[in-house]
Amino acid sequence: MTIKTRFAPSPTGYLHVGGARTALYSWLYAQAQQGQFVLRIEDTDIERSTQEAMDAIIEGMNWLGLTWNEGPHYQTKRFDRYQSFIDQLRQEGKAYRCYCSRERLDNLREAQKAKGEKPRYDGHCLTHTQPEQEGDYVIRFKNPQEGSVTFKDHVRGTIEVSNRELDDLIIARSDGTPTYNFCVVIDDWDMGITHVVRGEDHINNTPRQINLLKALGAPIPEYAHVSMILGDDGTKLSKRHGAVSVLQYRDEGYLPEALLNYLVRLGWSHGDQEIFSMEEMIQYFSLEQINKAASAFNTEKLNWVNHQYIKNMPREKVADYLLWHMQGQNIDMTQGPALTDVVAVLAERAQTLKEMAAASRYFYEEYDAFDETAAKKHLRPVAKEALLAVQEKLANLSNWTAESIQQAISNTATELDVGMGKVGMPLRVAVTGAGQSPSLDQTLLMIGQARSVERITKALNFIANREKQA
Ligand code: GLU
Repeated sequence: MTIKTRFAPSPTGYLHVGGARTALYSWLYAQAQQGQFVLRIEDTDIERSTQEAMDAIIEGMNWLGLTWNEGPHYQTKRFDRYQSFIDQLRQEGKAYRCYCSRERLDNLREAQKAKGEKPRYDGHCLTHTQPEQEGDYVIRFKNPQEGSVTFKDHVRGTIEVSNRELDDLIIARSDGTPTYNFCVVIDDWDMGITHVVRGEDHINNTPRQINLLKALGAPIPEYAHVSMILGDDGTKLSKRHGAVSVLQYRDEGYLPEALLNYLVRLGWSHGDQEIFSMEEMIQYFSLEQINKAASAFNTEKLNWVNHQYIKNMPREKVADYLLWHMQGQNIDMTQGPALTDVVAVLAERAQTLKEMAAASRYFYEEYDAFDETAAKKHLRPVAKEALLAVQEKLANLSNWTAESIQQAISNTATELDVGMGKVGMPLRVAVTGAGQSPSLDQTLLMIGQARSVERITKALNFIANREKQA
């Protein structure tokens, strides 16, 4: 039997990290079983579904590399299909029209609550059969009254719910549109879904869906309900915790591989291994190893994972992602080093690609102004002599290599009989505008000879102006 899983988001919001993790688990299970993965857009809530959200979901899935074998299917394109099964259930006497007014239902609920009972529909329109009439009605599914529904959840073990807990579910609204639980059942059946992996917020729907599947004579899939993700303060993850669209994580400079790696570990483990290649994730993943307990999102850990990927992934690959951020920050890259060189020198220092792009600007463009603190400390009149001397040596180098640059700096220090820092720090501020950078020889090498020399002049002018003002 081919394993088939699905991800079935409602396009009422973006693809957030919780949804992405559910999608990942579902996708991984399909990959691990050499199965198929289906993307289904549950857009029946027409008022709250937006094209923007649909596009963002698909863009997010693509960015993460969670490819689907089938779909996207759209529920709004399948209304005829749902209708035919509603008709069938009605003909078979498994569903019925309910004419109960809102007022009657409200009173019923109040009376039940007053008696301390769980509110549920009392089956009034089933027992008081009346000739079919026009006017407002909904269609209800005749849920079995006896027995119970039992299913084995791959994460939570066996779950049993008494049918007495379940009332007659509305499967079509008064405007004729089918409801969520009904569409899911028909879709999972039609699409041959063998394993439903979804959020635990749907666990109460599962017994109802199983009863519907049984009434339709459909096979019952297996289920895995994945726990919630909490913020680091223990409350449900929300925007407040920075849990936003996965595309925002892209914009903030996370690598999709790193985000997936972080998400797979958030609620699943394989010993104490933290970093997994995609092949390893697929090889080791199992639904049974998913945590029953909720997991807490931890941005520091995500940053750590991201940094591991920046340091250890092939440079060419990191450079490809970095390019997108360079373009996003409008950095003019027509002159300057190869991006793989930027990755090589900045990987240790940047936890995100956004930081890396920002930190690499001076390799390509003039910086706007000197960092104030750095300039105050290092671009002082005493630095003039060292800057002039090192500038001359650098300008005269016929070979622009890390070694020759290093040699020019140390010769200057020796000649002036000062420590290396007295030459190096003013030089660093001169060529980068800032007080921190990768090693000076690498930095100058990548900035280039002409630019380095020009920037030293700029620093000397800055010092001269300062002297004038003093
Ligand atoms: N559309 C539902 C949601 O976004 C998921 C339904 C399901 O996975 O069964 O919460």
